[in-house]
Amino acid sequence: MYCDSWLSDEPQFRTKQLRHALFKEFVGSFDEITVFSKKQRDTLKKDTPFRSFEVISHKASPDTEKILIKFPDGKRAEAVLMKHSGRNTVCVSSQVGCAADCSFCSTGNLGFTRHLTDREIVEQALFFAQELKTRWQKNNPNKKWNIALAEPEFRIRNIVFMGMGEPLLNFENVAKAIEIFESPEAMNMGVRHITLSTVGIAVNIPKFLQLPRLPNLAVSLHAATDEVRDQIVPMNKGFSLKKLFSALDTFEQKTGRRIFYEWTVLPGVNDTKEQMDALGNLLKHRNAHMNFIPWNPGPSRIKYTKPDISSIRNMQQYLEKNYGITSTIRAIYGQDMGGACGQLAGRE
Ligand code: SF4
Repeated sequence: MYCDSWLSDEPQFRTKQLRHALFKEFVGSFDEITVFSKKQRDTLKKDTPFRSFEVISHKASPDTEKILIKFPDGKRAEAVLMKHSGRNTVCVSSQVGCAADCSFCSTGNLGFTRHLTDREIVEQALFFAQELKTRWQKNNPNKKWNIALAEPEFRIRNIVFMGMGEPLLNFENVAKAIEIFESPEAMNMGVRHITLSTVGIAVNIPKFLQLPRLPNLAVSLHAATDEVRDQIVPMNKGFSLKKLFSALDTFEQKTGRRIFYEWTVLPGVNDTKEQMDALGNLLKHRNAHMNFIPWNPGPSRIKYTKPDISSIRNMQQYLEKNYGITSTIRAIYGQDMGGACGQLAGRE
């Protein structure tokens, strides 16, 4: 773990204490680690910034919070906390910008700047964990924080790699971040509570399949023929749906778990009967869950019109009646603050 080198001159048990303080107690500064002597805390402060970024904006609505973060090199990214029936999900970014250039996506429109390190990814979730703990403490001024006893609304339940960037193009760092999220010695989330979302970098899926414990896999499909997908997801040109599904079938065979498919609905482009028939034929014999996402306006490369929910319901009914495929429509979080799917653009 990235923090294991911070106390390399100290006995091993100090690193365990440090991990506990960071990932279970969610301390907000090195000064809060009271099991360390002042000298040890001062050494930590001298050698290592407590957080790898500065939070330059934090917006909140009842169901969504979004942070804009700035790294020491001036680059920016965003992370989002979504609150759903008392369960918290953090959507983390894995890159600054993105090379995938999906036509509907504000991040894609920025182009690629750089990968985020495992620390920069994990600390997006840690920031929200620290915030939630602070709120719990305000409600419980006479109790000592214990993550196992905190109510669900004060804990992070799920992590989704659906923020800025394509995680499979930053695989090494994303793999290390997943390990920290799921490790019992760190955030102990369990892989079933972690979802990696990809446009389908087919050549990197075999690497992903080598992870010792596989998180959930979500695939941003958006179209069911190469002709239409090439327009929406330019990376498809290098891989093709045939290669993508061949790699995805290995995931299903290996884990027996369903894959989540995401479909940003772009009126007149991928909401046609032809696309629904192609989609039905692709998924009818696969263990799949379809998730339709109404396009969220933002500074994307192509401006689409917003779909109306009734037309998405018609798509759902058509798929279910003709192909037996059930689907959901993703609840929209944070659209008003530019924090919904496809809207993250690193802007204030
Ligand atoms: S949708 Fe995801 S993969 Fe596509 S450009 Fe946006 S951030 Fe990148």
